[in-house]
Amino acid sequence: MRFLLAFITTAGLLLAVQHSGAEPVHTGQVETNAHPKPDARNVILAVHGGAGTGLIRKDTPPELEKAYRDGLAAALRAGEQVLRGGGASLDAVEAAVKVLEDNELFNAGKGAVFTEDAGHELDASIMRGDDLRAGAVAGVKSVKNPISAARLVMEKSPHVLLAGEGADDFAARNGLKTVTQDYFWTQRRWDQLMNAKNPQAPKVAEYSTVGAVAVDQGRNLSAATSTGGLTNKMIGRVGDSPVIGAGTYAKNETAAISATGQGEVFIRGAAASTISNMIEFGRKSLADAAFEVIVKRLPALGGTGGVIALDRQGTFDAPHSTPGMLHGYLTADGKIVTKVFVDETPSNS
Ligand code: ASP
Repeated sequence: MRFLLAFITTAGLLLAVQHSGAEPVHTGQVETNAHPKPDARNVILAVHGGAGTGLIRKDTPPELEKAYRDGLAAALRAGEQVLRGGGASLDAVEAAVKVLEDNELFNAGKGAVFTEDAGHELDASIMRGDDLRAGAVAGVKSVKNPISAARLVMEKSPHVLLAGEGADDFAARNGLKTVTQDYFWTQRRWDQLMNAKNPQAPKVAEYSTVGAVAVDQGRNLSAATSTGGLTNKMIGRVGDSPVIGAGTYAKNETAAISATGQGEVFIRGAAASTISNMIEFGRKSLADAAFEVIVKRLPALGGTGGVIALDRQGTFDAPHSTPGMLHGYLTADGKIVTKVFVDETPSNS
């Protein structure tokens, strides 16, 4: 409540509602002169577990809340271990995303959503902020951790994006662990597929892609994103997550960004690179740029979602136009903050 009142007086009721994602966004109503504040400072690592309707406090069993918070915190701890040892932000984001891929609560790796033919096609990408090298895979079916395959493409191939069988084969040839499709199966995602195929069932927008952004002791940024895509997607459909500049971007001079949401719109709006460009060429702050793209521009194109964005000074923001976005961050002094409920507005804790 204290937060809400403060927010209302400083930014106006409309902005508070939009920035916290408490209601669906109607683009034309945002105050154009509003300057959103970053969610946190001194952040060295952040993760997200997807944007969507979010968890409602009163409807969420404590075990589920705990499972989500623990899942996000475990990913942060994995990345923290890398960073504390003086490791690179690239290693930290890969480590964090792998933990989320292995956690069936999230739509990446184990627990990925189903395609229209009840299969799994996974997308992932990773990028370094110092030299803009990047790697990605799209539509992979057998690599256990797609984020590691994306990194492999960056480091061991002359390409940026490999798709389908070629990507799976490349990952296997280079020693990554492979699994059969049943590894990715979960009852919850199956039920979501059945729901999507039932014309009578009410539909909700739930994105639970995962991602991470980090800055290391050398002040280098990295970003990573991994997903199963959208439930009941067409075979061969590729979203924004493996598209550098749409779902993932990192540039030391601007920010590391990982997105979640309606992938088609994030591609059309070049979401992540537009945020970077607005910082670099438009001289916008991180929070202004991310807010403008996520809460104003993309909804105007017909899509909702969110990003986590971090600059090399540790400024962190997580705007979303969906009611909720699961995310968490780690500060330089070792504090972990996780946000899973819709009412946990960005600077609430
Ligand atoms: N952005 C992802 C996609 O469109 C979905 C998500 O964020 O969950 O594939």
